[in-house]
Amino acid sequence: MRLRRMEGGLLNLPGIYIHVPFCSAKCPYCDFYSLVGREKTDAYCAAVTDELKTLRRVGPLADGLKDRDISTVYFGGGTPSFVGAENLSRLLRAVKENYVLLPGAEITVECNPSSSLVPGFFETLAAAGFNRVSLGMQSAVGAERKKLGRRATAADVETAVKACQQAGITDISLDIMLGVPEQTESSLLSSLDFALSLGVTHLSAYLLSIEEGTFFDKKRDALNLPEEDAVCDMYLSLCGYLKNNGFRHYEISNFCLPGHEARHNTAYWRDEEYLGVGPAAHSYLNGRRFYFPRDLDAFISGMPPVDDGPGGGWEEAVMLALRLDTGISLQEIKEIFAVAPSPSLPAILQQYQSAGLLTFDGDRLTLTERGFLVSNTLIGEIIDVITP
Ligand code: SF4
Repeated sequence: MRLRRMEGGLLNLPGIYIHVPFCSAKCPYCDFYSLVGREKTDAYCAAVTDELKTLRRVGPLADGLKDRDISTVYFGGGTPSFVGAENLSRLLRAVKENYVLLPGAEITVECNPSSSLVPGFFETLAAAGFNRVSLGMQSAVGAERKKLGRRATAADVETAVKACQQAGITDISLDIMLGVPEQTESSLLSSLDFALSLGVTHLSAYLLSIEEGTFFDKKRDALNLPEEDAVCDMYLSLCGYLKNNGFRHYEISNFCLPGHEARHNTAYWRDEEYLGVGPAAHSYLNGRRFYFPRDLDAFISGMPPVDDGPGGGWEEAVMLALRLDTGISLQEIKEIFAVAPSPSLPAILQQYQSAGLLTFDGDRLTLTERGFLVSNTLIGEIIDVITP
């Protein structure tokens, strides 16, 4: 469930996250840290390479990385594919030169279909060692994609998936968005039909959230967003549809064919440790959290990561673990964190179970799909009643 410290070292092996903060345009709903254009790509790649070299040896993260191998690498953004396969390969080489990757390490890169449609793009990635690709599709319906500011067509997505598979990278995830302006349950199901027809192994389904300061935030009233109840129905339909097609709903927003869980992200939900490199990237090592500020120039100039305080408390571990279909065990919480659940907890959990929000067998509790829909409130309430 979380990092366990044992005599003689740490059990889990950290993953590395590299934030690539460049995009071809800013999507109207996006508040991720990303800049439009590629002008500073070379300086950025040089800075990431430098950080990968030095973080292990000096600075606040060195203790947490010493003598530890790496189990996963994840390039996210931004749009990593926008900087090109050669640059991504160069960054992965820098990871390999400075860290020992376990045999079979999962190495993922987020790609945009448009910037992947370059001859030889996926072959170059495969040759460098990338073995998993996450493609931003959001919707297969042209009008919905347009509303989201996505330039690529569904045909581009199909071409990108096929090119990726032909290059030998068959572990492919597609992002799907729920609650898109003018989306209906039937348009969502047509996107899912399309996604599954491509033979992908993983789907991530995110609810569109309107973040402060984004273009969508300013235009909220004109967006014609589906009603909240309709979006909840879409989520439940999506869960049913994917389950009927052999996908495991292993995390609130994530679904996979058996054996194709995203190992890197699953480690986050298990509250395990990771190193994050790049502007806006976060790290959790040696029980402490760090982050690089959302500032590309500061990152390029070598500004060190900022200490963000301790991590790994029981509330955090419970909050993350309840996102997974494996849930939490009250006995484990007791043993690992020395937290004694309140004697009234089982009765309260039975009430939630009767309401169809969770399942509880006397020790392990997991949220149901209806529970996932209200997870923010529900998880907070569970944490409140765990302790006397
Ligand atoms: S491609 Fe992704 S990171 Fe870039 S602007 Fe769009 S949503 Fe944001």
